[in-house]
Amino acid sequence: MPRLLKKTDKATALRLRRQVMAIYSYALAWAGIYGGVELGLFDVDTPHWGIFIALMCVNIVIYIAIRSGASTSLKDPSLTAVQMTFGVIAVTAILHYSSEIRGSMTAIYFMIMTFGVFALSRSKMVLMSLFILTSYTILTFWEWHAEPHNQIFAISLGQWAILALGLAWFVYVGGHIYNLQHRIREQRESLRDNHQRLKESHIQLHEAMAQLAEIAVRDELTGLFNRRHFLERLDEALARSERGNLPLHVALIDLDHFKLVNDKHGHQVGDLVLRKFSDIAKRELRRSDVVARYGGEEFIILFTEGSTADIKTVLERLRIEFALACSRDISPDLSTTMSIGLAAWAPSDRPETITLRADNALYRAKDLGRNRLAVA
Ligand code: GH3
Ligand code: MG
Ligand code: MG
Repeated sequence: MPRLLKKTDKATALRLRRQVMAIYSYALAWAGIYGGVELGLFDVDTPHWGIFIALMCVNIVIYIAIRSGASTSLKDPSLTAVQMTFGVIAVTAILHYSSEIRGSMTAIYFMIMTFGVFALSRSKMVLMSLFILTSYTILTFWEWHAEPHNQIFAISLGQWAILALGLAWFVYVGGHIYNLQHRIREQRESLRDNHQRLKESHIQLHEAMAQLAEIAVRDELTGLFNRRHFLERLDEALARSERGNLPLHVALIDLDHFKLVNDKHGHQVGDLVLRKFSDIAKRELRRSDVVARYGGEEFIILFTEGSTADIKTVLERLRIEFALACSRDISPDLSTTMSIGLAAWAPSDRPETITLRADNALYRAKDLGRNRLAVA
Protein backbone atom coordinates (compact mmCIF):
# COMPACT_ATOMS: atom_id res chain seq x y z
CA MET A 1 0.00 0.00 0.00
CA PRO A 2 2.77 2.56 0.74
CA ARG A 3 3.92 2.37 -2.87
CA LEU A 4 0.42 3.23 -4.07
CA LEU A 5 0.39 6.24 -1.74
CA LYS A 6 3.60 7.64 -3.16
CA LYS A 7 3.77 11.08 -4.80
CA THR A 8 0.49 12.39 -3.41
CA ASP A 9 0.11 15.47 -1.27
CA LYS A 10 -0.62 15.13 2.42
CA ALA A 11 -4.39 15.71 2.16
CA THR A 12 -4.82 13.20 -0.69
CA ALA A 13 -2.75 10.63 1.14
CA LEU A 14 -5.03 11.03 4.17
CA ARG A 15 -8.15 10.63 1.99
CA LEU A 16 -6.69 7.51 0.39
CA ARG A 17 -5.90 6.07 3.80
CA ARG A 18 -9.49 6.66 4.82
CA GLN A 19 -10.68 5.05 1.60
CA VAL A 20 -8.54 1.97 2.21
CA MET A 21 -10.00 1.84 5.72
CA ALA A 22 -13.49 1.80 4.14
CA ILE A 23 -12.52 -1.06 1.84
CA TYR A 24 -11.17 -3.04 4.81
CA SER A 25 -14.39 -2.38 6.74
CA TYR A 26 -16.54 -3.61 3.88
CA ALA A 27 -14.39 -6.73 3.48
CA LEU A 28 -14.80 -7.37 7.20
CA ALA A 29 -18.57 -6.84 7.03
CA TRP A 30 -18.81 -9.17 4.09
CA ALA A 31 -16.82 -11.87 5.96
CA GLY A 32 -19.30 -11.48 8.83
CA ILE A 33 -22.28 -11.86 6.53
CA TYR A 34 -20.69 -14.83 4.79
CA GLY A 35 -20.26 -16.49 8.18
CA GLY A 36 -23.79 -15.44 9.11
CA VAL A 37 -25.21 -17.15 6.03
CA GLU A 38 -23.29 -20.33 6.89
CA LEU A 39 -24.66 -20.20 10.44
CA GLY A 40 -28.20 -19.63 9.23
CA LEU A 41 -28.49 -16.12 10.56
CA PHE A 42 -29.20 -14.86 7.05
CA ASP A 43 -31.34 -16.33 4.31
CA VAL A 44 -29.46 -18.90 2.30
CA ASP A 45 -30.23 -16.95 -0.85
CA THR A 46 -28.54 -13.76 0.48
CA PRO A 47 -26.76 -12.29 -2.57
CA HIS A 48 -23.71 -11.40 -0.45
CA TRP A 49 -21.28 -11.93 -3.32
CA GLY A 50 -23.20 -9.60 -5.61
CA ILE A 51 -23.48 -6.90 -2.97
CA PHE A 52 -19.84 -7.29 -1.99
CA ILE A 53 -18.61 -7.02 -5.59
CA ALA A 54 -20.86 -4.00 -6.28
CA LEU A 55 -19.55 -2.26 -3.16
CA MET A 56 -15.94 -3.08 -4.00
CA CYS A 57 -16.43 -1.68 -7.51
CA VAL A 58 -17.85 1.57 -6.12
CA ASN A 59 -15.01 1.84 -3.61
CA ILE A 60 -12.32 1.14 -6.16
CA VAL A 61 -13.79 3.76 -8.51
CA ILE A 62 -13.75 6.24 -5.62
CA TYR A 63 -10.19 5.24 -4.76
CA ILE A 64 -9.09 5.90 -8.35
CA ALA A 65 -10.96 9.23 -8.40
CA ILE A 66 -9.06 10.32 -5.29
CA ARG A 67 -5.72 8.86 -6.35
CA SER A 68 -5.78 10.45 -9.81
CA GLY A 69 -6.68 13.84 -8.35
CA ALA A 70 -9.97 13.95 -10.28
CA SER A 71 -11.90 14.51 -7.05
CA THR A 72 -9.76 17.40 -5.74
CA SER A 73 -11.88 20.04 -7.46
CA LEU A 74 -15.04 18.75 -5.77
CA LYS A 75 -16.52 20.28 -2.65
CA ASP A 76 -15.96 17.01 -0.81
CA PRO A 77 -12.75 15.60 -2.33
CA SER A 78 -12.92 12.42 -0.25
CA LEU A 79 -16.40 11.66 -1.75
CA THR A 80 -17.53 10.66 1.74
CA ALA A 81 -21.21 11.34 1.15
CA VAL A 82 -21.26 9.32 -2.10
CA GLN A 83 -19.50 6.43 -0.45
CA MET A 84 -21.80 6.51 2.57
CA THR A 85 -24.89 6.58 0.34
CA PHE A 86 -23.81 3.39 -1.45
CA GLY A 87 -22.95 1.85 1.91
CA VAL A 88 -26.43 2.59 3.26
CA ILE A 89 -28.11 1.08 0.19
CA ALA A 90 -25.98 -2.07 0.49
CA VAL A 91 -26.63 -2.43 4.23
CA THR A 92 -30.36 -1.97 3.73
CA ALA A 93 -30.30 -4.71 1.08
CA ILE A 94 -28.38 -7.03 3.42
CA LEU A 95 -30.79 -6.27 6.26
CA HIS A 96 -33.60 -7.58 4.15
CA TYR A 97 -31.98 -11.02 4.26
CA SER A 98 -31.18 -10.97 7.96
CA SER A 99 -33.56 -12.84 10.21
CA GLU A 100 -32.99 -13.09 13.98
CA ILE A 101 -30.02 -10.75 14.01
CA ARG A 102 -31.86 -7.84 12.37
CA GLY A 103 -31.51 -5.78 15.55
CA SER A 104 -27.73 -6.08 15.91
CA MET A 105 -27.24 -5.74 12.15
CA THR A 106 -28.50 -2.16 12.25
CA ALA A 107 -25.21 -1.38 14.02
CA ILE A 108 -23.58 -1.49 10.58
CA TYR A 109 -25.43 1.74 9.77
CA PHE A 110 -23.46 3.33 12.62
CA MET A 111 -20.23 2.00 11.17
CA ILE A 112 -21.08 3.94 8.03
CA MET A 113 -21.98 7.03 10.04
CA THR A 114 -18.52 6.92 11.66
CA PHE A 115 -16.98 7.83 8.34
CA GLY A 116 -19.05 10.99 8.22
CA VAL A 117 -17.99 12.27 11.63
CA PHE A 118 -14.73 13.81 10.43
CA ALA A 119 -15.87 14.86 6.98
CA LEU A 120 -19.51 15.94 7.09
CA SER A 121 -21.02 18.98 8.72
CA ARG A 122 -23.85 18.55 11.17
CA SER A 123 -26.50 19.36 8.55
CA LYS A 124 -25.08 16.75 6.18
CA MET A 125 -25.00 14.23 9.02
CA VAL A 126 -28.70 14.99 9.65
CA LEU A 127 -29.44 14.39 5.98
CA MET A 128 -27.48 11.12 6.03
CA SER A 129 -29.36 10.00 9.16
CA LEU A 130 -32.69 10.81 7.50
CA PHE A 131 -31.59 8.84 4.44
CA ILE A 132 -30.75 5.82 6.63
CA LEU A 133 -34.00 6.09 8.55
CA THR A 134 -36.01 6.45 5.34
CA SER A 135 -34.26 3.45 3.76
CA TYR A 136 -34.90 1.40 6.86
CA THR A 137 -38.54 2.56 7.08
CA ILE A 138 -39.15 1.66 3.42
CA LEU A 139 -37.60 -1.76 4.07
CA THR A 140 -39.80 -2.29 7.10
CA PHE A 141 -42.98 -1.24 5.29
CA TRP A 142 -42.10 -3.32 2.30
CA GLU A 143 -41.56 -6.39 4.48
CA TRP A 144 -44.88 -5.76 6.28
CA HIS A 145 -46.53 -5.55 2.91
CA ALA A 146 -44.83 -8.66 1.44
CA GLU A 147 -44.87 -10.98 4.46
CA PRO A 148 -47.26 -9.58 7.09
CA HIS A 149 -47.48 -12.93 8.93
CA ASN A 150 -43.72 -12.88 9.69
CA GLN A 151 -43.76 -9.47 11.40
CA ILE A 152 -44.18 -8.59 15.07
CA PHE A 153 -45.22 -4.99 15.39
CA ALA A 154 -43.57 -4.31 18.76
CA ILE A 155 -40.20 -5.64 17.60
CA SER A 156 -40.30 -3.72 14.32
CA LEU A 157 -41.21 -0.51 16.10
CA GLY A 158 -38.59 -1.14 18.78
CA GLN A 159 -35.85 -1.67 16.21
CA TRP A 160 -36.91 1.40 14.31
CA ALA A 161 -36.91 3.49 17.49
CA ILE A 162 -33.47 2.26 18.57
CA LEU A 163 -32.09 3.07 15.13
CA ALA A 164 -33.66 6.54 15.22
CA LEU A 165 -32.25 7.22 18.71
CA GLY A 166 -28.81 5.93 17.73
CA LEU A 167 -28.74 8.15 14.68
CA ALA A 168 -29.82 11.19 16.68
CA TRP A 169 -27.00 10.50 19.15
CA PHE A 170 -24.54 10.19 16.27
CA VAL A 171 -25.61 13.53 14.84
CA TYR A 172 -25.25 15.17 18.24
CA VAL A 173 -21.84 13.75 19.21
CA GLY A 174 -20.56 13.73 15.64
CA GLY A 175 -21.41 17.42 15.34
CA HIS A 176 -19.36 18.11 18.44
CA ILE A 177 -16.38 16.22 17.07
CA TYR A 178 -16.72 17.99 13.72
CA ASN A 179 -16.79 21.42 15.37
CA LEU A 180 -13.87 20.51 17.60
CA GLN A 181 -11.88 19.40 14.60
CA HIS A 182 -12.69 22.66 12.83
CA ARG A 183 -11.64 24.71 15.81
CA ILE A 184 -8.36 22.80 16.07
CA ARG A 185 -7.72 23.40 12.37
CA GLU A 186 -8.43 27.12 12.78
CA GLN A 187 -6.15 27.32 15.79
CA ARG A 188 -3.42 25.53 13.93
CA GLU A 189 -3.74 28.01 11.06
CA SER A 190 -3.65 31.02 13.35
CA LEU A 191 -0.67 29.50 15.12
CA ARG A 192 1.05 29.16 11.78
CA ASP A 193 0.25 32.82 10.97
CA ASN A 194 1.63 33.92 14.33
CA HIS A 195 4.73 31.90 13.76
CA GLN A 196 5.20 33.55 10.36
CA ARG A 197 4.71 37.02 11.86
CA LEU A 198 7.15 36.21 14.63
CA LYS A 199 9.72 35.08 12.09
CA GLU A 200 9.29 38.33 10.13
CA SER A 201 9.67 40.42 13.28
CA HIS A 202 12.75 38.44 14.14
CA ILE A 203 14.29 39.20 10.75
CA GLN A 204 13.39 42.90 11.09
CA LEU A 205 14.92 42.95 14.54
CA HIS A 206 18.09 41.38 13.21
CA GLU A 207 18.27 43.91 10.40
CA ALA A 208 17.70 46.78 12.82
CA MET A 209 20.41 45.43 15.10
CA ALA A 210 22.80 45.09 12.19
CA GLN A 211 22.01 48.69 11.18
CA LEU A 212 22.58 49.87 14.74
CA ALA A 213 25.88 48.01 14.91
CA GLU A 214 26.88 49.63 11.62
CA ILE A 215 25.86 53.11 12.84
CA ALA A 216 27.78 52.57 16.06
CA VAL A 217 31.10 52.14 14.23
CA ARG A 218 30.61 54.83 11.58
CA ASP A 219 31.20 58.55 11.42
CA GLU A 220 28.00 60.24 10.32
CA LEU A 221 29.41 62.88 7.98
CA THR A 222 31.96 60.85 6.01
CA GLY A 223 30.71 57.28 6.46
CA LEU A 224 34.23 56.28 7.49
CA PHE A 225 34.85 54.31 10.70
CA ASN A 226 34.88 56.38 13.88
CA ARG A 227 37.77 56.83 16.27
CA ARG A 228 36.54 54.30 18.83
CA HIS A 229 36.17 51.53 16.26
CA PHE A 230 39.53 52.39 14.75
CA LEU A 231 41.29 52.09 18.09
CA GLU A 232 39.68 48.67 18.66
CA ARG A 233 40.87 47.49 15.26
CA LEU A 234 44.34 48.92 15.90
CA ASP A 235 44.51 47.12 19.24
CA GLU A 236 43.67 43.78 17.57
CA ALA A 237 46.13 44.40 14.72
CA LEU A 238 48.92 45.26 17.17
CA ALA A 239 48.31 41.99 19.02
CA ARG A 240 48.52 40.10 15.72
CA SER A 241 51.78 41.86 14.80
CA GLU A 242 53.19 41.10 18.23
CA ARG A 243 52.40 37.39 17.85
CA GLY A 244 53.53 37.00 14.25
CA ASN A 245 56.01 39.85 13.85
CA LEU A 246 53.78 41.12 11.03
CA PRO A 247 54.14 44.51 9.30
CA LEU A 248 51.84 47.30 10.49
CA HIS A 249 51.71 51.03 9.75
CA VAL A 250 49.63 53.90 11.01
CA ALA A 251 49.20 57.10 9.01
CA LEU A 252 47.77 60.21 10.63
CA ILE A 253 46.42 62.81 8.20
CA ASP A 254 45.50 66.43 8.92
CA LEU A 255 44.06 68.74 6.30
CA ASP A 256 46.11 71.90 5.83
CA HIS A 257 44.69 75.31 6.79
CA PHE A 258 41.25 73.85 7.01
CA LYS A 259 40.03 76.73 9.10
CA LEU A 260 40.66 78.93 6.07
CA VAL A 261 38.52 76.66 3.88
CA ASN A 262 35.63 77.13 6.29
CA ASP A 263 36.27 80.85 6.57
CA LYS A 264 36.56 81.48 2.84
CA HIS A 265 34.00 79.04 1.45
CA GLY A 266 31.71 78.30 4.32
CA HIS A 267 31.19 75.35 6.60
CA GLN A 268 29.14 73.43 4.02
CA VAL A 269 31.99 73.45 1.53
CA GLY A 270 34.23 72.36 4.38
CA ASP A 271 31.92 69.39 4.86
CA LEU A 272 32.10 68.60 1.15
CA VAL A 273 35.89 68.56 1.39
CA LEU A 274 35.75 66.11 4.29
CA ARG A 275 33.42 63.88 2.28
CA LYS A 276 35.68 64.17 -0.73
CA PHE A 277 38.54 62.86 1.37
CA SER A 278 36.38 59.87 2.28
CA ASP A 279 35.56 59.15 -1.39
CA ILE A 280 39.16 59.37 -2.51
CA ALA A 281 40.41 57.28 0.40
CA LYS A 282 37.86 54.53 -0.30
CA ARG A 283 38.94 54.53 -3.93
CA GLU A 284 42.70 54.60 -3.38
CA LEU A 285 43.02 52.22 -0.42
CA ARG A 286 42.84 48.43 -0.34
CA ARG A 287 40.17 46.40 1.46
CA SER A 288 42.61 45.41 4.15
CA ASP A 289 43.34 49.06 5.03
CA VAL A 290 41.23 50.55 7.81
CA VAL A 291 40.47 54.25 7.41
CA ALA A 292 38.69 56.33 10.03
CA ARG A 293 37.83 59.92 10.88
CA TYR A 294 40.03 60.59 13.89
CA GLY A 295 38.82 64.09 14.72
CA GLY A 296 37.45 67.24 13.00
CA GLU A 297 39.66 67.30 9.90
CA GLU A 298 41.99 64.53 10.96
CA PHE A 299 41.95 61.05 9.53
CA ILE A 300 43.84 57.91 10.41
CA ILE A 301 44.69 54.82 8.40
CA LEU A 302 45.81 51.39 9.57
CA PHE A 303 47.82 49.32 7.10
CA THR A 304 48.32 45.65 7.96
CA GLU A 305 49.96 44.74 4.66
CA GLY A 306 52.87 46.08 2.66
CA SER A 307 56.28 47.59 3.28
CA THR A 308 56.91 51.21 4.32
CA ALA A 309 57.91 51.98 0.73
CA ASP A 310 54.64 50.52 -0.65
CA ILE A 311 52.59 52.50 1.80
CA LYS A 312 54.45 55.72 1.10
CA THR A 313 53.53 55.25 -2.56
CA VAL A 314 49.87 54.73 -1.70
CA LEU A 315 49.81 57.79 0.58
CA GLU A 316 51.55 60.03 -1.95
CA ARG A 317 48.97 59.07 -4.54
CA LEU A 318 46.19 59.76 -2.04
CA ARG A 319 47.69 63.20 -1.24
CA ILE A 320 47.92 64.23 -4.88
CA GLU A 321 44.54 62.78 -5.86
CA PHE A 322 42.81 64.55 -2.97
CA ALA A 323 44.21 67.98 -3.82
CA LEU A 324 43.25 67.48 -7.46
CA ALA A 325 39.74 66.25 -6.70
CA CYS A 326 38.97 69.20 -4.41
CA SER A 327 39.71 71.85 -7.02
CA ARG A 328 38.22 69.77 -9.82
CA ASP A 329 34.99 68.60 -8.16
CA ILE A 330 34.21 71.24 -5.53
CA SER A 331 35.63 74.61 -6.50
CA PRO A 332 38.52 75.65 -8.84
CA ASP A 333 39.86 78.16 -6.32
CA LEU A 334 39.96 75.52 -3.61
CA SER A 335 43.43 74.23 -2.99
CA THR A 336 43.07 71.87 -0.06
CA THR A 337 46.08 69.81 0.76
CA MET A 338 46.97 67.41 3.52
CA SER A 339 49.92 66.60 5.70
CA ILE A 340 50.68 63.02 6.63
CA GLY A 341 52.66 61.44 9.44
CA LEU A 342 53.51 57.76 8.99
CA ALA A 343 54.73 55.40 11.72
CA ALA A 344 55.80 51.77 11.35
CA TRP A 345 55.19 49.12 13.98
CA ALA A 346 57.83 48.51 16.65
CA PRO A 347 57.73 45.60 19.15
CA SER A 348 55.56 46.18 22.28
CA ASP A 349 53.75 49.05 20.55
CA ARG A 350 50.45 50.15 22.12
CA PRO A 351 47.82 52.16 20.23
CA GLU A 352 48.98 55.32 22.08
CA THR A 353 52.67 54.84 21.30
CA ILE A 354 52.34 54.21 17.58
CA THR A 355 49.77 57.02 17.08
CA LEU A 356 52.02 59.37 19.06
CA ARG A 357 54.91 58.64 16.68
CA ALA A 358 52.59 59.21 13.71
CA ASP A 359 51.44 62.48 15.30
CA ASN A 360 55.04 63.65 15.78
CA ALA A 361 55.79 62.84 12.16
CA LEU A 362 52.67 64.79 11.17
CA TYR A 363 53.91 67.83 13.11
CA ARG A 364 57.17 67.56 11.29
CA ALA A 365 55.36 67.49 7.94
CA LYS A 366 53.48 70.65 8.98
CA ASP A 367 56.71 72.30 10.10
CA LEU A 368 58.42 71.49 6.85
CA GLY A 369 55.77 73.45 4.95
CA ARG A 370 52.66 71.15 4.83
CA ASN A 371 51.29 69.22 1.82
CA ARG A 372 53.75 66.42 2.40
CA LEU A 373 54.42 63.07 4.05
CA ALA A 374 56.86 62.56 6.91
CA VAL A 375 57.89 59.17 8.29
CA ALA A 376 58.58 58.68 11.99
P1 GH3 B 1 46.65 73.25 10.06
O1 GH3 B 1 47.18 73.27 8.68
O2 GH3 B 1 47.64 73.73 11.03
O3 GH3 B 1 46.08 71.96 10.43
O4 GH3 B 1 45.51 74.35 10.06
P2 GH3 B 1 43.98 74.08 10.34
O5 GH3 B 1 43.24 75.32 10.02
O6 GH3 B 1 43.53 72.89 9.63
O7 GH3 B 1 44.03 73.81 11.87
P3 GH3 B 1 42.96 73.58 12.97
O8 GH3 B 1 43.11 72.19 13.50
O9 GH3 B 1 43.19 74.67 13.96
O10 GH3 B 1 41.55 73.73 12.34
C1 GH3 B 1 40.70 72.67 12.06
C2 GH3 B 1 39.38 73.21 11.59
O11 GH3 B 1 38.56 72.18 11.12
C3 GH3 B 1 38.63 73.90 12.69
C4 GH3 B 1 37.19 73.45 12.49
O12 GH3 B 1 36.31 74.52 12.28
C5 GH3 B 1 37.22 72.60 11.26
N1 GH3 B 1 36.34 71.50 11.41
C6 GH3 B 1 36.39 70.51 12.31
N2 GH3 B 1 35.38 69.63 12.10
C7 GH3 B 1 34.68 70.09 11.04
C8 GH3 B 1 33.52 69.62 10.33
O13 GH3 B 1 32.91 68.61 10.66
N3 GH3 B 1 33.07 70.34 9.25
C9 GH3 B 1 33.73 71.47 8.87
N4 GH3 B 1 33.27 72.13 7.83
N5 GH3 B 1 34.80 71.93 9.52
C10 GH3 B 1 35.30 71.26 10.59
MG1 MG C 1 43.64 69.62 12.98
MG1 MG D 1 44.37 71.05 9.93
